[in-house]
Amino acid sequence: MEYETVIGLEVHVQLSTKSKIFCSCSTQFGRDANTGTCPICQGMPGVLPVLNKEVVERGIMVGLAMECEIAHLSQFARKNYFYPDLPKGYQISQYDKPLCEHGQIMISIDGEEKRIGLTRIHIEEDAGKLIHGENLGDPDSSYVDLNRTGTPLLEIVSEPDIRSSEEAKLYLEKLKTILEYLDVSDCNMEEGSLRCDANISVRPKGAEKLGTRAEVKNMNSFRFLQKAIEYEVKRQIDVVEDGGQVVQETRLYNSDKDITVSMRSKEEAHDYRYFPDPDLTPVIVEKEWVAKTRAQLPELPDAKKLRFIKEYELPSYDAGVLTASRDVADYFEAVAKNCKNAKTASNWVMGDVLRIVKEQNVAVQNIKVAPAMLSSMINLIETDVISGKIAKTVFEEMADTGKEPETIVEEKGLKQITDTSAIDAEVAKVIADNPKQVEQYKGGKTKVIGFFVGQVMRATKGKASPDMVNKLLKEKLDQ
Ligand code: ADP
Ligand code: MG
Ligand code: ZN
Repeated sequence: MEYETVIGLEVHVQLSTKSKIFCSCSTQFGRDANTGTCPICQGMPGVLPVLNKEVVERGIMVGLAMECEIAHLSQFARKNYFYPDLPKGYQISQYDKPLCEHGQIMISIDGEEKRIGLTRIHIEEDAGKLIHGENLGDPDSSYVDLNRTGTPLLEIVSEPDIRSSEEAKLYLEKLKTILEYLDVSDCNMEEGSLRCDANISVRPKGAEKLGTRAEVKNMNSFRFLQKAIEYEVKRQIDVVEDGGQVVQETRLYNSDKDITVSMRSKEEAHDYRYFPDPDLTPVIVEKEWVAKTRAQLPELPDAKKLRFIKEYELPSYDAGVLTASRDVADYFEAVAKNCKNAKTASNWVMGDVLRIVKEQNVAVQNIKVAPAMLSSMINLIETDVISGKIAKTVFEEMADTGKEPETIVEEKGLKQITDTSAIDAEVAKVIADNPKQVEQYKGGKTKVIGFFVGQVMRATKGKASPDMVNKLLKEKLDQ
């Protein structure tokens, strides 16, 4: 029997607003426990929440960027449950009237565009954090840090349109890219600003009805997401093949053992006793607010990708890589603006620039090779001042020292030798020194020309123009 995997993702994003969603405490990460709190986010009785308008503004931005309808009226609801990191005994969320619905995110898989539908995007508050004593040499205690309570979150819920762990990763990457373009969240997965629950089920290939899902909670890396899905799909298929039934439940991924384990049976919406929060009025978003926000959206990744293909005549693959980060896209454009061949610029950015970014673990705008320097270097290649091979050396030197390419070429004497007589002498010498290869060439084995080119390039320390060396060698050998 063949099976099909069905996945829907729920992604929680912390918004990087200055203050929390219902009080004026700062959202700053990494402060001493409980120093970033007030009676409101501590959940004291009798306090009243006041909605931070910036949270709604950012919710609208994300909704529009993900092609949702923005609700004229949305409503906060109380989701009731007990947990020590939730001092009020309920979370303020949105239930039947979310801010955004019916959106989509496009992913590129195997060269094709695929649409992943979004059911909804709603606003809610984050809970605090429990710190278990084991890690503090105090195994009998647990501590609570409420700094995170009241941090604004968006929950982005996809339709069950995802069909593999690869698609899930691509979806999450694209979602993150869009959020980064909008600059609404720092999207720092290690710090938990972006975390993801995966709902996973399997069904016989071709079946209409969805299988029973298990939900794997709170993954904060692309790799764990993929591994958890792969493990879970195998597990569920085994259960079904053994004649059993998948139970609807909440599971946790254990990255040390690379398995998922059952955490609790799945709660249903009615368990939470949702009801409209009487402390907060409905949120009314007028058409003008939506229009104004739409007008202020930056160019988004899909639009930028299409423009790069058109304007710079780049292959779709290049345009995809370059626009996966707004900073990289900006860097590329700054380089391409000043050189004739955008594809050459793309090659350098996708290759050596991104390599340096990774090696040095810095943002692209902070590497020592400023875009203008890369443009100048590419122009030195185009005008035959240096060869493509020497350019690699120049690039490394720029990345290490931040010197201008012209300075490096001058200081290190890297100018390409285009003086025919200088190359002629080397060509003559190499031919004289290697009679055996000359025989082979004359005997029809013209591939040995590569050997001669290599010898001349070595003798000139890579500075001879390869085109010229080739031409001169051919002339001499064919005589
Ligand atoms: P909750 O998890 O809070 O009960 P929903 O019922 O809205 O919320 O579903 C959450 C997610 O589960 C959505 O992303 C949805 O696409 C996905 N989902 C629903 N049914 C299935 C299924 N049978 N297999 C895989 N994913 C599913
Ligand atoms: Mg869920
Ligand atoms: Zn507070």
